[in-house]
Amino acid sequence: MNELEIAISKAELLLRLGNWSTHCSAFDCGDQEQLEFERLETMTINLAMSRAQTQQKDFKTALMEVELQVSIHLAKLLEPTIDPALACTTALSVDGEDGIVCGVCQEEMEKEHEARAIMECMHMFHDSCILKWLKINNTCPLCRATCKPKKLHFQEIKI
Ligand SMILES: [Zn+2]
Ligand SMILES: [Zn+2]
Repeated sequence: MNELEIAISKAELLLRLGNWSTHCSAFDCGDQEQLEFERLETMTINLAMSRAQTQQKDFKTALMEVELQVSIHLAKLLEPTIDPALACTTALSVDGEDGIVCGVCQEEMEKEHEARAIMECMHMFHDSCILKWLKINNTCPLCRATCKPKKLHFQEIKI
């Protein structure tokens, strides 16, 4: 199992619970679902362990990377169904050169953290900043590109 497969299983589980807008905590999951979540957590840890070995990283770093990748895949799988604002943006991690500034709050975005980009122009912002912005606007705060919802369905991603 790789990160995408773990994310797909999680997405299916969350959709089954009908409670995927907030991550399911141990308290509001059924027994079956809780077991399934634990199974996926174990898989995440196993994957991180094999990554740590093959790439000669320490386990903690490998686990963080795997978890970040899973959460990005998961966000991509679920985003079109959560909020219309999510349907025209995409989740990605901040990388490349330092000093990328969020166009909404003007604060720097930390490297290796999750961010969102408007798909029309791929300008990047903090998650919460751009979602707030898109509740009252439908254009990019930087270049005014129109935010067009993508036509994307969970079933189509899952090939
Ligand atoms: Zn911001
Ligand atoms: Zn833009």
